Amino acid sequence: MPTTMRNPKLQELPLTEAAVAEQNGQKHQTKYGSVTLSPPPGADALAAMTEPTHDSYGRRVRYLRISLTDACNLRCVYCMPEHMQFRPRHELMSDDEIIFLVNVAASLGVDKIRLTGGEPTIRPGVVDLVHRISTVPGIRDVAMTTNALLLDKLAQPLADAGLGRVNISIDTIDPERFRRITRWGDIEDVWRGIDAAEKAALLPIKLNCVVTRGFNEEDVIDLAGLTMENDWEVRFIEMMPFGEVSDFQLSHVVSFREIRQNVESVFGPLEEASYDFVDPSRPFRIPGAAGTLGFISSVTEPFCQGCGRVRLTADGKLRLCLLRDDEVDLLSPLRAGADFDKIRALMKDGAFHKPWGHGLDSGVFAENRAMNQIGG
Ligand code: SAM
Ligand code: SF4
Repeated sequence: MPTTMRNPKLQELPLTEAAVAEQNGQKHQTKYGSVTLSPPPGADALAAMTEPTHDSYGRRVRYLRISLTDACNLRCVYCMPEHMQFRPRHELMSDDEIIFLVNVAASLGVDKIRLTGGEPTIRPGVVDLVHRISTVPGIRDVAMTTNALLLDKLAQPLADAGLGRVNISIDTIDPERFRRITRWGDIEDVWRGIDAAEKAALLPIKLNCVVTRGFNEEDVIDLAGLTMENDWEVRFIEMMPFGEVSDFQLSHVVSFREIRQNVESVFGPLEEASYDFVDPSRPFRIPGAAGTLGFISSVTEPFCQGCGRVRLTADGKLRLCLLRDDEVDLLSPLRAGADFDKIRALMKDGAFHKPWGHGLDSGVFAENRAMNQIGG
């Protein structure tokens, strides 16, 4: 079966006139006027100015996650409402703007990029963009988080363009429950995507599973079982509350402890695997398994100590913490003509003010955006 999307309305993202003009290499008109970016410094100048950046708690900021689009070819129940309104194309960062901001980030010591969304693979020109990002001086590692529906066709071109790894979202291996969680997805597309990713050596394969009460608690057993034969990391993620769907999320959260207990009730006590205290996923292994399990307990046991991540939202805001609304607008000043040094100063100052800890216990929620806009 080909990897086409199930909703016929979504088979192609509509391109605005501005996006078409941009694809054809013309300047486009935005609400800020005609965009002309000041050129980033050359490779030598960039290398000369590159320095590590730390926040006010002494954490080194070296990891930038970029949301390439807020749009998606699925509608997972924990991520966005079924009738989600997406931003018009001209409000999103263009390829040139993304490359400019990646250059700025690299000059501040960022060496690792993750492309996410929405669904990053539906962005027009994503393969070229990956190539451009992976050749920015200083960028060592480019990864992607994807629902894998389009990987059957894109895994090899993306790998050839410089993508190193993928994390693939799969919350159940049951076709009916997969359809219910994603609202219309076909799990066969995901299996084909995983297969293509392995063939293209986008390794190690990491599978992300958000555990949602009433939807897939029992599926953690089958998903954990995949690691017996496959050298994959299956990561269980506590659901996090955001924006319009936070009521749903809070009432359906399953804690890391409960997930672990469920897995151990079938497979016995898990062994701890080696942990770098940087990855949010704490690794374990079922004794004798080929792969590992990871637990991402963002809500009940946050992992702020090792967090060196900042995010670029699809509309060009530097988001300082996933679970807080603190953001620095980079795209508006960039479109208003700010040069490299000015944007660099804004990014550096933002990174310095990266917060510590979420405020969920005291009723502080990230309300301004849904997960697809932030890039989880
Ligand atoms: N569409 C891609 C995908 O699903 O992998 C990338 C974007 S998605 C927003 C990134 C990750 O965030 C996915 O693994 C998804 O399961 C996770 N996610 C989405 N909403 C979440 C929520 N409310 N809490 C925790 N994780 C969430
Ligand atoms: Fe789309 Fe990923 Fe959100 Fe699911 S989790 S709706 S695949 S952006």
